[in-house]
Amino acid sequence: MLCQHQPSCPSAADSDHEAARILASHPEQGWSLLCNGVIVFEDTGELLPDCSVIEPHRGPAPHVLVKAA
Ligand SMILES: [Zn+2]
Repeated sequence: MLCQHQPSCPSAADSDHEAARILASHPEQGWSLLCNGVIVFEDTGELLPDCSVIEPHRGPAPHVLVKAA
């Protein structure tokens, strides 16, 4: 776990994982690394530490995390 904040940020498995703080921002490449290991792309797509992918989601609509069955 990269996060050393107190209180700790939501983990990558939490539905509010986007609320974690940005550790490294690479706007020129269009992505940011959050302290819970989630990579958030400029188009709002996400890559989780377990290699699952969240499709880009515009606006406040809740995104759907497709879990492998
Ligand atoms: Zn954190």
